[in-house]
Amino acid sequence: MSASKRILVTGGAGFLGSHLCERMVEDGHDVICLDNFFTSQKTNVAHLLDKPNFELLRHDITHPIFLEVDQIYNLACPASPGHYQYNPIKTMKTSVMGAINMLGLAKRCNARVLQASTSEVYGDPEVHPQTEDYRGSVNPIGPRACYDEGKRAAETLFMDYHRRNKVDIRIVRIFNTYGPRMHPYDGRVVSNFIRQALLGEDITIFGDGSQTRSFCYRDELVEGIIRMMNGPEDCLGPINLGNPVEFTIRELADLVIELTGTKSKLVKRPLPADDPTRRQPDITLAKKHLNWEPKVPLRDGLAETIKWFRTIRLEDYRAPTPNY
Ligand code: NAD
Ligand code: UDP
Repeated sequence: MSASKRILVTGGAGFLGSHLCERMVEDGHDVICLDNFFTSQKTNVAHLLDKPNFELLRHDITHPIFLEVDQIYNLACPASPGHYQYNPIKTMKTSVMGAINMLGLAKRCNARVLQASTSEVYGDPEVHPQTEDYRGSVNPIGPRACYDEGKRAAETLFMDYHRRNKVDIRIVRIFNTYGPRMHPYDGRVVSNFIRQALLGEDITIFGDGSQTRSFCYRDELVEGIIRMMNGPEDCLGPINLGNPVEFTIRELADLVIELTGTKSKLVKRPLPADDPTRRQPDITLAKKHLNWEPKVPLRDGLAETIKWFRTIRLEDYRAPTPNY
């Protein structure tokens, strides 16, 4: 185990953040989990509350905060299209003002700060698979722009704080990730399909289902984030993290139907505006610099996720937005 550090995880009660907090607590670090609970709830970290090296703070990162920390994982931001489009101005504020506040904190504390960026910076990509040097094709005025451009602006701020103020930064671009503890009403494709399948409801395919995504299992993604935070000095990123195995949405639906044994039927719904037609990470850099490569096949990760969905009570979850 490495020497114990004081670690701040913003968005720490969320899907990825809560698993990251768990890992950091297990590794003996002093963990501060900061969240405003917009898209999550305390139950995600309830099992950590009595640990002496875990602290939970209700705070909104659009406001400054004064803490003493060694590392900051900046994950706070609504991540699913339904959630981030619910209050697009707030989404942009969270990305931009949140980044400024966390970079300022890192600068004052001399801490290393990692930004959870996204494959959405590539927009609807003309380059396939997406490499980090591809500059993307984002519609700056579309419904996804609050998130895509917010995350792009955050990357800009990270690089400028690094060049100007020598802040010790890391940037990861995360591709679609799934697993236990996804919010059942986040409207993302994996949670939607599993919830619908288990309830015997229609499975909603947006468009004709030929659009692709590449799905990474949560535990492997979080391992990649941790490796990036503690990786080589000169490896700032941006670096892609995701599973390069590509699936059509229709293939995903068929797999969920097979694994749940549901009698649900597939139904077509209109494709949302600016929905990317394909997405697949090139992870050459992650392999080279972090020795990281996902191994969990979608079938196995989905089976684990379905197992978890079978254990939860949907009525315990508050739908953060009416958009699911
Ligand atoms: P999530 O919605 O479960 O987690 C985000 C957390 O941030 C939630 O707990 C939410 O309450 C909190 N939050 C939102 N706005 C906040 C604010 N202003 N102040 C404090 N807390 C706030 O989503 P996730 O999937 O765990 O995503 C975590 C991060 O990873 C996000 O930054 C997201 O953009 C990024 N990411 C995730 C994926 C993915 O597939 N899961 C893909 C690309 C990028
Ligand atoms: N999607 C779908 N049915 C749903 C939810 C999503 O067909 O019930 C599609 C969506 O249009 C997109 C893909 O699944 O093409 C992934 O959507 P998600 O919201 O999970 O994430 P995105 O990668 O678009 O941010």
